[in-house]
Amino acid sequence: MSKKTSATCPCGSERPHDACCGRFLSGQTYPETALELMRSRYCAYAIGRLDWVRQTWAPETCPEDVANDATIKWLGLSVKSHREIDETHAEVEFVARGRYGNRGAFRMHERSRFEKREGKWLYVDGDVTE
Ligand SMILES: [Zn+2]
Repeated sequence: MSKKTSATCPCGSERPHDACCGRFLSGQTYPETALELMRSRYCAYAIGRLDWVRQTWAPETCPEDVANDATIKWLGLSVKSHREIDETHAEVEFVARGRYGNRGAFRMHERSRFEKREGKWLYVDGDVTE
């Protein structure tokens, strides 16, 4: 008899999706840290939940049309650092790996800035380094 396990979360936490980013994407609860928010945004890209990507983006920097290149398959996330600057500002540095259809693999290295507004962390912007 094998135990029924729910699928591992795409954010790379090695936890079941429902116990990880799934509870944020379903609206059950809101991420308590910028790091949790960042992971859930990666997860949303990976599974095509662009509504969550939009919802967690500061309105003044959110593009009108949040697009996900459908040819990208996201392969993994590794968080390099998480720094709480003060109670309402944080930075998360990460490397996301993906593959473009048949054009090969890539790495995206970004330092993202987050702000807490009205009790909720939002993604503001980030610096991408190659
Ligand atoms: Zn997750």
